[in-house]
Parts: sequence; C-alpha cells; structure tokens
Amino acid sequence: MEIVNRRLSLNEFRHYIKEYYFGAQPANKLVIHHTWKPTKESWAGEQSILGLKGYYERKGWKAGPHLFIAEDGIWLFTPMRNNGIHAGTLNPRSIGIEVVGNYDLEVWSGNTKMNALGAIESLMKQLDLTKSDIHFHRDASGKSCPGRAITKEWLFYELSQLDLGPMIPRSFEDLNRNITAPSPVDSNSSSAMVLIPVPDWAREAVDFVVKYRLFKIASSQDLRDAVKFHRFYKIIQANHG
Ligand SMILES: [Zn+2]
Repeated sequence: MEIVNRRLSLNEFRHYIKEYYFGAQPANKLVIHHTWKPTKESWAGEQSILGLKGYYERKGWKAGPHLFIAEDGIWLFTPMRNNGIHAGTLNPRSIGIEVVGNYDLEVWSGNTKMNALGAIESLMKQLDLTKSDIHFHRDASGKSCPGRAITKEWLFYELSQLDLGPMIPRSFEDLNRNITAPSPVDSNSSSAMVLIPVPDWAREAVDFVVKYRLFKIASSQDLRDAVKFHRFYKIIQANHG
C-alpha cells in the first residue's frame, strides 16, 4: 500500500493543499471518521501510522483513509488524489479524514480540534465544497463513527467560529522551528564564540566557523551566515581538491 507518511503542521498543510494536484477528478466530498483506537493517549505518531498501514494491508486493502489528525499534526496517509478505502459507498471521490481518538462521549479538543477544523475548512475552500459535501461515516454505515458526540450541527457551528488567519510563509515557519530547536554546543573551546543554542542543521557550519575563528555566533542571522560561509567553503574545496 502506497502511503505518503508525512506529518504537517496546520500551516504546512494549508501550503501543501494549495500546491497539491488533486487529480483529473478531484474529491468532491469529505468523510469524517474517528479512529476510536488508537486513542488520543495511545497515539504514537509514525509508529501508529505504520501500524495502521500494516493493519489495512492484512485486510488486503490497496488504500486507506487519506488523513489522520492528531495532537502532533496532520498525517498524510493515502494520497488525496487517489480513491481511498474508508467508508464503503462513500469511497469514490471522497477524502477520508480520521480524527485520532474516541469521540462517542466527548468532542474534539486541543490541537486535535484545531487541526481537524483547520484541515476541513481549508480543504472545503480548496476543493470548493459546501456543507452538503461533508459526510460522516455513520451516514453510510451502522457505526457511530465519527463518534456520537460529533454532530453536524456542532461541526458547522465550530467551523463558523473558526478564524484561521493568514498563512505564515513556509520558509519563515521552517526557520522558526529550526532556530528554536534546543541543541546546545557541548565543546568548551567553542563556548566563547557560540552564544546561542545551535540547531542540528547549523552544527557542521558552526564548527567550521569556530575552527577558523571567523565570527561570533550570537544570533539566528549568524547561524544563517555560518551555513552560507560553510557552503561556499565546500564549493571551493570541491573545485580545488
Ligand atoms: Zn469511520
């Protein structure tokens, strides 16, 4: 079974679907589910994704749902341009959205709620869908899915209250995430020159700057400069080695 197996933040997801090719006949409806199991508590990111892939493969399925929405982000499963397997007669031209957790007794909450509402809202916009294009799994089966606590009235009210705001440029979001990655330099000799935590992506470059005592690393701009210097150094080295 082909799966995308990528985790996106809601902001990244909004960028992703803007550029995504949804196929010659894009999905014309969404089908909302809950996983029931794994629960919110037992969800383990990629480990759970691979577990689900194995589970569907053992059933002999060639595809599964398209998205798993959890506290840790929006996981891409079956490519959204392909028909998935998740809701019987509703499978053709639908995007199957699994909200991780059991919602028979409680509604979505926390990041899961924001990610689910945000994904639904942005897919509706992108694919030009209306409320009547939003289906629940139970509309086509005897199950309670996506959970008895989730009603269309509740969902549409929550969507009407949702304000996603403008999209953050992707490069800026990546940069922020990288800069805040806690990864202190441990070498004593470099501590005088390195005044901020060094994320993994800049480590080799910072080591290079420290080795040749080029400049102090005291800001995120210095980290980027270090990476540029180092890249330049590598190019020179490659052409004169
Ligand atoms: Zn379902």
